Amino acid sequence: MSSTAVSTVLPMFIAGERRESRGHAEQLFNPATGAPTVIFQHSTRDEINAAVDAAQAAFPAWSRTPVLQRCRVLFHFHGMLERHADELIALITEENGKTLEESKGSFQRGLECIEFAGGATSLMMGDTVERVGTGVDGYSIRQPLGVCAGITPFNFPFMVPLWMYPMAIACGNTFVHKPSERVPRSAMRIAELLHESGLPPGVLNVVHGARETVDALLTHPKIRAVSFVGSSAVAKYIYATAAANGKRVQALGGAKNHSVVMPDADLRSAAQVVMASSFGCAGERCVATSVVVAVGDIADPLIAELRRIADSMRVGDGAAPGSEMGPIITPEAKKRIAGYVDAGIADGATLVRDGRKDSCSQSSGNFLGPTIFDNVTPQMKIAREEIFGPVLSVVRVKNLQEAIDLINSSQYGNASSIFTRSGNTAREFVTSTQTGMVGVNVGVPAPTAIFPFAGWRGSFFGDLHALGKDSVQFYTESKVVTCRWPED
Ligand code: NAD
Repeated sequence: MSSTAVSTVLPMFIAGERRESRGHAEQLFNPATGAPTVIFQHSTRDEINAAVDAAQAAFPAWSRTPVLQRCRVLFHFHGMLERHADELIALITEENGKTLEESKGSFQRGLECIEFAGGATSLMMGDTVERVGTGVDGYSIRQPLGVCAGITPFNFPFMVPLWMYPMAIACGNTFVHKPSERVPRSAMRIAELLHESGLPPGVLNVVHGARETVDALLTHPKIRAVSFVGSSAVAKYIYATAAANGKRVQALGGAKNHSVVMPDADLRSAAQVVMASSFGCAGERCVATSVVVAVGDIADPLIAELRRIADSMRVGDGAAPGSEMGPIITPEAKKRIAGYVDAGIADGATLVRDGRKDSCSQSSGNFLGPTIFDNVTPQMKIAREEIFGPVLSVVRVKNLQEAIDLINSSQYGNASSIFTRSGNTAREFVTSTQTGMVGVNVGVPAPTAIFPFAGWRGSFFGDLHALGKDSVQFYTESKVVTCRWPED
């Protein structure tokens, strides 16, 4: 296990060193066992300023380090992470609760972000037009911004930070990361490993805390850009506040994702995939299927199959071999999710499977068994709001158009998917669905790092998304040069 995992007080990481904080302390707990893990401290304003100053001081040398050398550090980092894979995967599971298999998947997706950022050498290339005027050439170059900040959620402690700073630093920026106050240990450990891989001190710094720490970053005059991933209400706040303070912002928010199952779909495989998409990571994924839209007469057999799979799902400590679903992040989150089950019943939905009655839900960890509602209507609270837990709603509709209209009426627009054997139906769905990420015969998809993570509407605030070529544009400023050399 990592050095941070066994220490009792979690430090910050500033200017290449672990630093103890003087801020307000909180005890963190393992979500599966309820056992205390580390004491976490909210960074003070002075400590946050020290982190930003360290990033600012590192910027001139790092931004002038050739891009090939910057990428070489990322290649070393990639190898370092692979060598520490078992330790990191265990740490993700211990602090977040997801199963080891899920942690392994998110670890791999994190590595993909580094692989993509390692191509900054070509991704940063500008354009050239010779002779835009007589004897005049025009070309564009991409330059780093300066100090960037990243604020991340609890559900992917390893992967989401890697959506941000590998590309930011490959482009020549320096960075201050504020991980979720519920899962700060993975972030600390990977920052240490990045420095052991040759990153100069100050290029990446880690501070801790919640709203106060975030506010200090959003209003800090030396920070040029803010990347955020979290819930929509906070994303909107981050977007407005950081923009009002003159910063470039990308703020990825929450989601309510739909999977449409057409009457011609392969029922068994669609049900398997939907269940993995809904209950993987205990439904704590921004790309979880939260609503199944059953079209026509597939509804009855589909619900029977979803229930059969849910009944056989092994819920337990994510670290235990064979666990298929781990706990919810905190007891408060479990209570909030159980409240949605009450709301579904009160609104008149049919509770097909009540996970609150499963034996796991009575144990000491934050477990909640898989829960399924049928006959959910679009007006119900469970159909409209992000539950972010193991609760799946089934809405029955008559045809494809009704399914598309339902998706397009959601306040969110993160992702959706369709299960069908018809190319024409799939094509119509891809064209007409107003979500930024669309899947065909796959669960609600999270694209690989080479594409942007492209939420729409209430799921994203900003212009340039995380990952893909958008991230290169986000973390660089474009400069256009018009150049004439007079004849001697
Ligand atoms: P959250 O919004 O509660 O917290 C995210 C970050 O914001 C944390 O670092 C937290 O400290 C900070 N924060 C919380 N409240 C704040 C406030 N009032 N002011 C300023 N900062 C604040 O989200 P979470 O519970 O950690 O994560 C789950 C949410 O993240 C879900 O809504 C999920 O859909 C979303 N998410 C979205 C994506 C995506 O790509 N769109 C990916 C992962 C998670």
